[in-house]
Amino acid sequence: MTSTLPPVPPSLAGRIVGPDDARYERLRHGYVHRGAPAAVLLPEDAAQTAEALAYARSLGSAVSVRSGGHGISGRSTNDGGAVVDLSRLDEVRVLDRARRRIRVGAGARWGRVAQALAPHGLAVSSGDTGDVGVGGLVTAGGMGWLARLHGLTVDHVTAVELVLADGTHVRADAEREPDLFWAVRGAGGNFGAVTAVELRAHETGDVVFANLVFDAGNAAEAAALIEAWGAVLETAPRELTSFLTFMPGGPGRSHVAHVAAVYAGNAEHGAAERTLTPLLGVGPLVRQRAVLAPYPALVPVSGVAHHAQQPLGATRSGLLDHLTADAARAVAEALESGQVLMQQFRSVGGAVNDMDPAATAYAHRTQNFSLMSATVPERESGLDAHWARLAPHLNGLYLSFDTRRGPRVLAEAFPGPVLPRLRALKERYDPENVFDRNFPLK
Ligand SMILES: Cc1cc2nc3c(=O)[nH]c(=O)nc-3n(C[C@H](O)[C@H](O)[C@H](O)COP(=O)(O)OP(=O)(O)OC[C@H]3O[C@@H](n4cnc5c(N)ncnc54)[C@H](O)[C@@H]3O)c2cc1C
Repeated sequence: MTSTLPPVPPSLAGRIVGPDDARYERLRHGYVHRGAPAAVLLPEDAAQTAEALAYARSLGSAVSVRSGGHGISGRSTNDGGAVVDLSRLDEVRVLDRARRRIRVGAGARWGRVAQALAPHGLAVSSGDTGDVGVGGLVTAGGMGWLARLHGLTVDHVTAVELVLADGTHVRADAEREPDLFWAVRGAGGNFGAVTAVELRAHETGDVVFANLVFDAGNAAEAAALIEAWGAVLETAPRELTSFLTFMPGGPGRSHVAHVAAVYAGNAEHGAAERTLTPLLGVGPLVRQRAVLAPYPALVPVSGVAHHAQQPLGATRSGLLDHLTADAARAVAEALESGQVLMQQFRSVGGAVNDMDPAATAYAHRTQNFSLMSATVPERESGLDAHWARLAPHLNGLYLSFDTRRGPRVLAEAFPGPVLPRLRALKERYDPENVFDRNFPLK
């Protein structure tokens, strides 16, 4: 323990890391954000999490809650404050195979969750990256490889266990604390430190994973490709979920489009081929590859320590009902600007839109596509100019993919009655705004 820090309670002895500790370098930063916290606390269970939070608060500066450290919008590290790192709470348990009930610690990575469930023939649709933590994703949404077939991760949460600002450890589900249960599934980072969640997993065997590379040509050709990809996805069976990613080609060179697609239905009798084939025609194909793979292969775990290795630290998120010609043109034109270095569409729709918008604090249930545009922080004003042109085509946003803060962003993330309801609940559960590192609800 660092001598400048006040004494820790006995239960946390050896579980606090300060700057002079050999473990500090591996723990100070996130994947996107750099940090220099005064202390990182490493609780191993819910009781220790409550003690760690109380201790962190007693230091009187910023308190960050961290699960996997992959926060883009949420800041799970800070300068001079405390980080409550839940990575030790990483147990994955099948509670009831017949009912597909599972319990997952908030500190587990989604890749490990996939590995633990696969022998049972189960999976949870999470995201596209195995290193992302359970806690940050399951409290925000969870747009992943199986989104059109199974919906968002929050749609399958049946109970949440969390430490509240007053130190109590509660369980929220449809019967107990139903308001809190609603709020945590979309805005969870504002309400407590989630220690574990229960979910209903899906029966999942091998899936077909296809990677297609296209020469996207100039902006007009790239726009045509976006429209064509969108049209395929809107009419495709739900078993298909796909991402379309653009990298600008640079002056005088073709842009490159990368389509990743997952077919998660029964691949027999040519169904996978029939579903994937229309994607081959969305533009001039350069390369294609499709493999039958177990779901965990789609979300490998790297185990690499965080050192803010993601340079695209400025991102914008928008949701779209349809990929119209005008919207596609606005996205493609940004490829020419040299200001926006990556743009990625994800298909949502399908099962995501089966949910009642009032069922979870993530309330966007009409849109078919999510778009994220990213750049380096030095070019953020160029990204903003692009985003201003795109704004008329957008309908809401997903906070996990947006680095902006402020009231307008919140209003787009939590439309209509959602934001006032969240603010009222924030007064009830966290009146002192202890959990302020996610997005400022107050
Ligand atoms: C490479 C990469 C790929 C991604 N892919 C996807 C994707 O496919 N789909 C998708 O939906 N999202 C994706 N995301 C976004 C990701 O879901 C969010 O950034 C999420 O917050 C990361 O979770 P984490 O636990 O790793 O984050 P952390 O950095 O640990 O936490 C981020 C914030 O979440 C909150 N939080 C974390 N843990 C808890 C907890 N236990 N209780 C309460 N609040 C908590 C805190 O406010 C914290 O500041 C991706 C992000 C990255 C960097």
